[in-house]
Amino acid sequence: MNDAASIPAQRKEDRPALLSIVCPAFNEEAVLLDFHRRLRRAMTALEQPFEVVFVNDGSRDRTLAMMYALRERHPNTTIVDLSRNFGKEIALTAGLDAARGDAVVVIDTDLQDPPELIGSLIAGWREGYDVVYAQRRKRHGDGWLKKLTALMFYRLMRRSGPVELPENVGDFRLLGRKAVNAVCAMRERHRFMKGVFAWIGFPSKAVPYNRERRHAGKTKWNYWRLWNFSIEGVTSSTLAPLKLSSYLGFVTAVFAFIMGALFIVKTAIFGETVQGFPTLITVILFLGGVQLCVLGVIGEYLGRVFNETKHRPLYFTNEIAMSDIGCQESAHSDGADPSQGEVNLKIDQGAVSRRAG
Ligand code: UDP
Ligand code: MG
Repeated sequence: MNDAASIPAQRKEDRPALLSIVCPAFNEEAVLLDFHRRLRRAMTALEQPFEVVFVNDGSRDRTLAMMYALRERHPNTTIVDLSRNFGKEIALTAGLDAARGDAVVVIDTDLQDPPELIGSLIAGWREGYDVVYAQRRKRHGDGWLKKLTALMFYRLMRRSGPVELPENVGDFRLLGRKAVNAVCAMRERHRFMKGVFAWIGFPSKAVPYNRERRHAGKTKWNYWRLWNFSIEGVTSSTLAPLKLSSYLGFVTAVFAFIMGALFIVKTAIFGETVQGFPTLITVILFLGGVQLCVLGVIGEYLGRVFNETKHRPLYFTNEIAMSDIGCQESAHSDGADPSQGEVNLKIDQGAVSRRAG
């Protein structure tokens, strides 16, 4: 992902004929309406024809009901209702599959990604870039431990991965149609989206922004999930740990060989003694430990190979309600959004559970 090497020719079009905004949501009832209101206001200011693609990732609260309520008011809303919680990466993929715009913006629904930045992302698209990613200047609301671990992760990925992962970049970005098709063509189960986005290539550009704190609701990430996510990131984009295991094995074997030779020589000269139990037990435990670690690494990869060879579909949906893309929303371009705020959310839970299957 070398920006300098690939400066594209400017596009003839002023803006995408249709922009799809993919918003994965899992239990986001606390922010979904605020998010939608801000998004719509930003889009109205841009006078950009768009569709919102909500992906309900198996939410157990009123998120889905809210989505349907919003869709009733705004027909340019697609709802992809997944059959269960598949995780953000798969939810994103489902959204990209359903998006029909000639450019797609991927954005979190917790208002950590400011919708107002979409204008700058589109400007990058107009310059001819197929991938315009938002790069955060500061990590608001993250503790030092999260910052440190993030730093270490990016450093590891940069050293070992086949392509460079831009630092401080989340999923918030705009993808041109070519890039969307490329991402959709990659159907691996273990998908680390940041890795996928970097791997596809295409001329890319960064737009800096300040990441806010979560507006409301709770993050779905804890350290255990982040740890697993990092393992996923490493194992799905690089074979470096396997290589490292081989070297570790080799170094240990050389070491063992030298020790062996020393012992033989020592025994030949001084005869056999019964001493040396501490050395023996240390060596056995050390070798056992190394072997188990290396086996674990191999196991991580083997498990992924197993999952991939099953060739299961990435996700199932309860329902996909496509947007009416002929309908534009720039009608209410008087700044204030008359349609929001009073969205009727007295939705009967029955309807929700019927839809959720
Ligand atoms: N999300 C999702 N499925 C999940 C977890 C999260 O679709 O299993 C969505 C979530 O609703 C939000 C986005 O992914 O829109 C980012 O999630 P979160 O804010 O928890 O992550 P963070 O911003 O802390 O990285
Ligand atoms: Mg968030």
